[in-house]
Amino acid sequence: MLTAISRYGARVLPNTQQLIAECARRGELVEGPAIDEFEEAFSQRHDHQVAVTTSYGRMAFYYILKALNLPIGSEVIFPALTFWVVPEIARVLGLRPVFVDVDPKTFNMNPSAVDRAVTANTKAIVPTHLYGLPCDMDEILGIATKHNLAVIEDCAHSLGALYRGRPVGTFGDAAFFSFQTLKPLNTYGGGMAVVRDASLAGAVRGLARSEPLPTEAEVRKKLNIGRVQRILTRPSVFRWTLFPILWAASFVRARPDVYLWEAIRPLDPLPPDYRRRYSNVQAAIGLEALRHLAGWTAATRRNAELLAQTMTGIPGVQLPDCPADRTHVFYQYALRVSDRDRVVRSCIRRGLDIETLHVDVCTRLPLFQPFWAPALEADYAAEAVQLPVYSSLSEDQVRWVSRIVKGAVSEDPRAPATVPQSARD
Ligand SMILES: *Cc1c(COP(=O)(O)O)cnc(C)c1O
Repeated sequence: MLTAISRYGARVLPNTQQLIAECARRGELVEGPAIDEFEEAFSQRHDHQVAVTTSYGRMAFYYILKALNLPIGSEVIFPALTFWVVPEIARVLGLRPVFVDVDPKTFNMNPSAVDRAVTANTKAIVPTHLYGLPCDMDEILGIATKHNLAVIEDCAHSLGALYRGRPVGTFGDAAFFSFQTLKPLNTYGGGMAVVRDASLAGAVRGLARSEPLPTEAEVRKKLNIGRVQRILTRPSVFRWTLFPILWAASFVRARPDVYLWEAIRPLDPLPPDYRRRYSNVQAAIGLEALRHLAGWTAATRRNAELLAQTMTGIPGVQLPDCPADRTHVFYQYALRVSDRDRVVRSCIRRGLDIETLHVDVCTRLPLFQPFWAPALEADYAAEAVQLPVYSSLSEDQVRWVSRIVKGAVSEDPRAPATVPQSARD
């Protein structure tokens, strides 16, 4: 166990500490001009819709749903394969999540399943552009128009992704983005609502802006947690910290990584730290990060291309699909392998940390038991593994990832054991 590559790679600005110090010096950690500027820059990228910063991506969704003022018990359609928090927010607001199946090739909601799920009570559809691949928006918008439904795009994975040349977040009535540490744009937490209609946008802004400001101590705590997450996943640190735990666990078939994630639980009442405004220092980081976004996206897409090139035609391996009319930003590189658990253990023993289920099959969670539905394709899609593809990996590291996975799939003992070190580590 000489070396290891983490499943996670945060997108970090080289001058993060300097930006924080400058905001602190000006007394603008909590409030300041960067919030409006960040919202304006985001708006410009999204068809000049109104953009509103929030404490979390999920809170952007919360305000959008609240502003839509849907009758209690209205049905909201979600893909069965998504982050549990999103349908839970609808449930907290007294709405009824309805889960539809996904297309096992794209991992995204299947439009014909959406069409079949619409009832007289349906009021909204939430297409999630999962893992960075846009949904089939023409089909989904067609269904929404036919039944007069609101469309709220979940863009948490997909900032910068295009459908027929247009960015995600510009198709529906509203959209939301997440700026958690590992998301495409990292501001150590936070989110953004993007809203088309001016009066709906005004309501969303009113709700978000009426939350209390965070304290300076709360803001510093977020930044510090982000810093620790970032350091722990750096390859040189990761192989001496988290990785030995994962490595040891692979021999006893335990999965300690499941404890790294938020516990799945009811969110009513909302935890107090949700009900905060976004901070100026995070907006300053976000504004700067937007200037790097195209470079990060291009690097990630190159890594994905290299994985595809080096792994096509391997028996038992199915590469992620991307229809020709879309640009995938590869927040995750989801690969289907046969005998998944064995492949995962074998990769970990060879120094490669890979993840199995980045999101949840919501129809299998006790939290949503009253709303369970059979969703067989989602269960099948959930058997994918997610390979490291993030922008800070070097070409040599991606080639190494590919060789390790191929070695694990074929159980070839000659697969290499040493990770090339990146200059960017
Ligand atoms: C991360 C995520 C969100 C919510 O983001 P937060 O900022 O953590 O609230 C929503 N949807 C999906 C699919 C996500 O992965």
